[in-house]
Amino acid sequence: MKIGIDIGGTNVRAGLVDIEGRVVDRVSAKTPSNEEPERLIELIISLCGQLGQAESVGIGAPGLIDHLNGIVRISPNLPKWRDVPLKALLELKLARPVKVANDVNSIAWGEFLFGAGIGSKDMLVITLGTGLGGALILDGKLHLGKSHMAGELGHSTFIKNGLSCPCGKRGCVEQYVAKNAIIRIAREKNPELKEVDPEIVAKAGHKGEKWAIEVYEEIGDNLARVLGGVIQLLNPDRIIVGGQISKAGELLFSPLRRAIINEIQPALRETFEIKKSALGNDAGIIGAAFLT
Ligand SMILES: [Zn+2]
Repeated sequence: MKIGIDIGGTNVRAGLVDIEGRVVDRVSAKTPSNEEPERLIELIISLCGQLGQAESVGIGAPGLIDHLNGIVRISPNLPKWRDVPLKALLELKLARPVKVANDVNSIAWGEFLFGAGIGSKDMLVITLGTGLGGALILDGKLHLGKSHMAGELGHSTFIKNGLSCPCGKRGCVEQYVAKNAIIRIAREKNPELKEVDPEIVAKAGHKGEKWAIEVYEEIGDNLARVLGGVIQLLNPDRIIVGGQISKAGELLFSPLRRAIINEIQPALRETFEIKKSALGNDAGIIGAAFLT
């Protein structure tokens, strides 16, 4: 048995994972986001204790992570964390091997081994939620890049001098394909809306409301433009889309598949599949448990 832990903005979720990638037991607790690192480290030790015997522990954490040394450099959800040697600290206390990776990389690894990525060799995984996260698996391995930031598509430029982004620059892709974009476009299409979030728009779309269908068409179009470049560059066999917004299903995937055809050269059209994540919220736990 292995333990996989997913440190999210709201909750820390830990699971005991068997050799076939099944979560057989799970515990969770609120993320002590604004506290000193010691607090979260104690929490992780306590969650591991509750799950019982396991040969190893893997952790997926948001932000910039040094995968090789298991150091959390900076994390948007953990403002007091800076260069925390999480792997070394936990190995000392747990007396078991510990691996630490970026959360989207953990999700990608989980999908690759046990989910929508089974049988793939070169794939891109994106998570669509508050932002756009990305991770690459190339030749069957997680591709980290020079500073372990490979796959971070969300902050490449979509529109020059466009909308400002929390990362500090303007016009980032995630402002045009993720949560804020859905809310903004929905308000443009339907100014009568009082409350709006991606789920409300998806629900209206599934009921056949035209404005809501058009919102997801625009998101699919924008996403296709971004993914087209990735397909031309990497010639992947699979693109997996996960995260809260992927739950819209065909409302998002149909326009995305339609639009992507026009973003790539004809010879590439039949070379890849676009799939919805198969493991949902467990992908991060499962992938973290199997980090190598
Ligand atoms: Zn940005």
